[in-house]
Amino acid sequence: MGFCLVNNVAVAARYAQIERGLGRIAVVDFDVHHGNGTEDIFRGDGSVLYVSLHQWPFYPGTGGPGTSDDSTLNLPLPAGSRDVEYLSAFRDAVEPAVAAFEPDLVLVSAGFDAHVEDPLALMEVTTEGFRELARRCASLGPRVAAVLEGGYNLDTLPDLVATALEGFSG
Ligand SMILES: [Zn+2]
Repeated sequence: MGFCLVNNVAVAARYAQIERGLGRIAVVDFDVHHGNGTEDIFRGDGSVLYVSLHQWPFYPGTGGPGTSDDSTLNLPLPAGSRDVEYLSAFRDAVEPAVAAFEPDLVLVSAGFDAHVEDPLALMEVTTEGFRELARRCASLGPRVAAVLEGGYNLDTLPDLVATALEGFSG
């Protein structure tokens, strides 16, 4: 759709499978936009579970209610969602789905455009909320790696990423 020329997390997933011999990969995407490219690449592929939390309705318009299947879990959240909504969705949907999938590797599409001060979207996740999201991602599988995705407030992004890295490392 124009934001990304190469789907880094999809390349990483295939690299892990082909070059490192890992079998099952879960991609957890908390970027505020639905990852329509990632969904497209892996839909119907039982070796990769794609989980996305995103603002909906919102650009790019995909990932709405009723669009999940065996390889995709779409969790559309309304504009104005805060830490409590994200962490509830994580507890009630993301954690059970990833645990049931039993991934060898979890890749996180770590976008920060759901932050309350991001200019593109209308979510209200705080910096501490991202720390907790990262902390929970780190316990989703035996190996976890994250790729930086969206985030459009260059004044807040450095602190957000640093805080999330603290969360990832426990
Ligand atoms: Zn985004």
